Amino acid sequence: KQLPGCSYTFYEEKLPPNEPPAPSVLAADIWTALKLSQFELYYQPRIDLASGQIVGAEALMRWNHPERGLIMPDDFIPVSEHTGQIVPMGFWAIMQAGRDLKTLHSNGLRLEKLGINLSFRQFQNDTLAETIKRIVSLENIDTNILEFELTESSLFSDDLHVKHSVDQLCSTGIDFSLDDFGTGYSSFSLLQKLPVSTLKIDRSFVAGLPDNSGDAEIVRAIISLARNMKKRVIAEGVETEQQLAFLREHQCDQAQGFLYSKPVPLPAFMKMLRASASA
Ligand code: C2E
Ligand code: CA
Ligand code: CA
Ligand code: CA
Repeated sequence: KQLPGCSYTFYEEKLPPNEPPAPSVLAADIWTALKLSQFELYYQPRIDLASGQIVGAEALMRWNHPERGLIMPDDFIPVSEHTGQIVPMGFWAIMQAGRDLKTLHSNGLRLEKLGINLSFRQFQNDTLAETIKRIVSLENIDTNILEFELTESSLFSDDLHVKHSVDQLCSTGIDFSLDDFGTGYSSFSLLQKLPVSTLKIDRSFVAGLPDNSGDAEIVRAIISLARNMKKRVIAEGVETEQQLAFLREHQCDQAQGFLYSKPVPLPAFMKMLRASASA
């Protein structure tokens, strides 16, 4: 139940399953996709609720499959986490994000933060921090723009190991956020142990706003927790004006969701960003 050399695990009840999660794609196809550059990053804007402007984005992976068309992450990320292919895919995503940031900059556009998802599986790679640092310097990425989003995935990980990598990356100026905050078994424990700067309220809590009193209480509590801990708080999955009004009223910092935009390819995102900057 434990990794060799580890004194304890995050939580023992959530061990990796013995069977891969019903793969709808094959591992071999993922290698082909990497080789033939079939992956693409889409961008979903993060809106500052005080100014109404786009201040950031989240990069989300898509797979342009030659026969099957656009494949969504839920259909290939779990498989790639199981096989470990998420490790090279994750490095690719950071490199691509760096290139896309360059395209933004050369078009006179700026972002405060760009969120990139990291799966805990990537932390099982001993050279994670080292490799990311190499990519960052190779691609000349401004580390202060990068914000890695951490989710408690179904894969267990030894937390001292994770903390070491996170600390190493933090020292380069990279920020971290806790994704899907409030849904996992160890949200609070991660918050206490890792130097995160942002909480992302899971969209399952945002969905019930403003009428579901349980959801409203939880969202209020996370916002006030973030404020007391001097962290930024972002609501995910904002779909309605009513949800937005509630979040604004309770002084949530930023929002992300279909109400503003779905994740879109870089050119469409640049158009939105340009319009927002000149508004
Ligand atoms: P996530 O990190 O929680 O990303 C947010 C997901 O919610 C995205 O789904 C996004 O399209 C969706 N979403 C955004 N706004 C709304 C909304 O208003 N309503 C609803 N119903 N959904 C909304 P997507 O792009 O399909 O990604 C699914 C998951 O796949 C992500 O969840 C993330 O865990 C994973 N993923 C995506 N790209 C990457 C990646 O590059 N690396 C890793 N490790 N995981 C990734
Ligand atoms: Ca995320
Ligand atoms: Ca920073
Ligand atoms: Ca999320």
